[in-house]
Amino acid sequence: MTATLAENLARAAEAIGNARYGVGFTGAGISVESGIPPFRGEGGVWNRYDPSILDLDTFMRSPERSWPAIKEMFTAFLGTGDRTPVEPNAAHRVLAKWEAEGRIKTVITQNIDGLHEAAGSRNLVEFHGHCRSLVCLSCGRRLPLNAETTAADVPKCPCGGLLKPDFVFFGEGIPPEALADSDEAARRTDCMVLVGTSGVVYPAASLPFLAKRNGAFVVEINPEPTSYTDAVVDVFLPLKAGEAMERLDELVSA
Ligand code: NAD
Repeated sequence: MTATLAENLARAAEAIGNARYGVGFTGAGISVESGIPPFRGEGGVWNRYDPSILDLDTFMRSPERSWPAIKEMFTAFLGTGDRTPVEPNAAHRVLAKWEAEGRIKTVITQNIDGLHEAAGSRNLVEFHGHCRSLVCLSCGRRLPLNAETTAADVPKCPCGGLLKPDFVFFGEGIPPEALADSDEAARRTDCMVLVGTSGVVYPAASLPFLAKRNGAFVVEINPEPTSYTDAVVDVFLPLKAGEAMERLDELVSA
């Protein structure tokens, strides 16, 4: 017999409540309720832009093509122009609360929006970097990413080099520390909570498989099933991130 949603919420809450080394693994879907569109699906960024604008070779060859789109995408994070700066939502806040309560040890995020940090997550692996800074592709200098440093059509370092946002572009390696920390967390966890990730961007997408191979109970929160759902997931909650996390928190805290 198929379990009801209430039964599945109860099973997930029990696993999270009993976890000794809980880990959250998040993707663009967790920030949708904060007003940031995901890459894929309804309202997705790739319906409006050609993904090659975030390809490292393309960016280095024709930054004047990539930068306008990058700036438009990041207006939301930076709060410049007429847009309101984005805020963490209930799902980010519950993950930070569970970390403070010792229920989870690490949040691994594929997002670059800084919302987990803003919500209070401390032991955070930003797998694809972040958009707090710019890095010079010539001298390696880092500058804060803000309206001033990105004012030029193609932002340049004082040395004349090309500045790139400090998140991972296609064709670029994952920061070694993020790889090592996420690998360790995925091997150690006994309960991994996946929130709003489609599981198609590798190598990040392999982490839930690694956790499962090492014996973790896997909870998935996503309005749509993904490549994980039938492969590694113990409890699938077909809900939006905010509602699912608030309902789980009520049960876990009861
Ligand atoms: P994705 O865009 O491939 O998939 C998003 C997933 O979220 C989908 O499975 C979708 O069904 C689900 N989703 C949509 N609304 C949701 C909601 N309200 N609650 C829960 N889930 C919801 O995202 P991905 O798997 O993270 O991979 C894309 C890559 O794009 C990542 O590397 C990420 O770094 C990057 N990205 C980041 C941001 C951000 O920083 N906020 C935004 C877009 C893309």
